[in-house]
Amino acid sequence: MIFINETLFSKTKAIINKYEFTFKKKFGQNFLIDNHVLNKIISSAEIDENDVVIEIGPGIGTLTAEVAKKAFKVIAVEIDRTLVPILRDTLSGFNNIDIINDDILKVDIKKIAEKYSDKRVKIVANLPYYITTPIIMEILEKRFPVESITVMVQKEVAYRMGAKPATKDYGALSLSVQYFCEPYIVANVPRNCFMPRPNVDSAVIKLTVLKEPFTKTENIKLMFDIIKSAFSQRRKTLLNCLFNSGGFGFSKDEIVGILSEIGFDEKTRGETLGLSDFARIADAVYKKIR
Ligand code: SAM
Repeated sequence: MIFINETLFSKTKAIINKYEFTFKKKFGQNFLIDNHVLNKIISSAEIDENDVVIEIGPGIGTLTAEVAKKAFKVIAVEIDRTLVPILRDTLSGFNNIDIINDDILKVDIKKIAEKYSDKRVKIVANLPYYITTPIIMEILEKRFPVESITVMVQKEVAYRMGAKPATKDYGALSLSVQYFCEPYIVANVPRNCFMPRPNVDSAVIKLTVLKEPFTKTENIKLMFDIIKSAFSQRRKTLLNCLFNSGGFGFSKDEIVGILSEIGFDEKTRGETLGLSDFARIADAVYKKIR
């Protein structure tokens, strides 16, 4: 059981020692040891008894236990089999937690979400950094029925996800995430909040999944291909970026023509444009190629 009045640092240390657990760098094992941050994650995720929470990478169960106190059910997916007996011990006081020993990238999250379609499904995690973008983009792009994703990620990644046009962090990731979600940076988390201490700072970000994207476009894939091209060469104009990435079959003059038809000139830079601008560009290109 997790003892609330015990500091997370000494509790974590005691469990590590008891099981002679060795941290595995390849699994991004940096366990949260700060109560304040733990509370922030829990409060921002807004979990209640109607929620089924999928936790990616429960570690020794610190976050899992707090989520389980509020949720209808927690499904905790942990890749490291040596953590499973530890989780069975630390979470023994709960009857609403399923532990799945598997790689989250191989788990059918959609199937789990659909199984609990009468509940709200939320994702909560202190994510191993190496899977952050693939797992979030898979959940969003495949439109898994989840309501929100509240995750600890590398600070730079959180800021890129939440960035607005014409800021240094703005790029293709900002647009991809914001097409599907409303992002909110919950907290900055310094590296000393983890055991062992990672080399980077982190942040908690909450992504509230939109029922329907605000931005409408005729061909989503084309819009994201254009976005990818627009940010492929940071210092170049949109025109040059599009042309240098193949121009979608158009000559440079034709691209100038398409852009000017919708009010963008040759000096326009991708980093100044929002989702609705990219949707207009995609629709103008699509009109010529379909
Ligand atoms: N949730 C714990 C906490 O906050 O202290 C641990 C977080 S630690 C940053 C990441 C956890 O994810 C580790 O327990 C690690 O073993 C697990 N993990 C890493 N890769 C995974 C994967 N592909 N699928 C499932 N779990 C994974």
